[in-house]
Amino acid sequence: MRTRLIVGNWKMHKTSTESAEFVHEFRNLVPTSTTIDILVAPPFVSLHAVQQAMTADDQFSLAAQNLHWEAEGAFTGEVSGPMLHALGCSSVIVGHSERRQLFRESNEEVNKKVKAALEHKLRPIVCVGETLEEREAGHTQAIVKDQLIKGLSGLDSEKISMIAIAYEPIWAIGTGRAATVEQAEEVHAFLRSVVTAEWGAAAQDVRIVYGGSVSSQNAEALFHCTDIDGALVGKACLDPTSFANICSLALQASH
Ligand code: PEP
Repeated sequence: MRTRLIVGNWKMHKTSTESAEFVHEFRNLVPTSTTIDILVAPPFVSLHAVQQAMTADDQFSLAAQNLHWEAEGAFTGEVSGPMLHALGCSSVIVGHSERRQLFRESNEEVNKKVKAALEHKLRPIVCVGETLEEREAGHTQAIVKDQLIKGLSGLDSEKISMIAIAYEPIWAIGTGRAATVEQAEEVHAFLRSVVTAEWGAAAQDVRIVYGGSVSSQNAEALFHCTDIDGALVGKACLDPTSFANICSLALQASH
């Protein structure tokens, strides 16, 4: 059985002081279980503060929101895989729709970032998802398949089992309008079938998490779906109590 994965994407929120405060509060609220994986993804500039605030007993780990594909060089403003690994990150979000839409990140760049992450011992969480127009035109499966196949191009099945996929319909992100359980499960099952067709049995190890207005109100129903292995949470992860509640629901669903 796949271990459930809950990722808190802080986006561009919290100073380093606020980030450390989050850790101190969250530690006392989050379930003390090792049977789910919990990641917090602060902005780059708060990674050090969060790492410093964490202790060996904490049941959550550190992720980054992005990386550059080169290990070092003249790339002003960018941050590399080795830098993130040295700061204690275990994972990195790649290809979030905000990066794709606002920063014009292409599937080819996503692929370079996925490969760089794996090379530098970071587990990539690869985001895919369609716009409302694409869904209404009946193109959801074609869009997410294209993003997945291009984003994961060139990986062997051993590498595939190291990645997680986040299905994040763009129309559900930050809108308060989450996908229904049926809509989410349908795309998750489809994504797993795509991974199975390309990489075989490794697909059973790949965690596919849902993102898009996840809250403590709707998480439980999502976590009971066969192919939904957890959540990528934006707004609701900024408050330690609400993020801890979502983690608790994931833990309950895993029993
Ligand atoms: C996200 O940041 O990926 C996200 C899903 O945000 P929200 O939960 O706020 O919709």
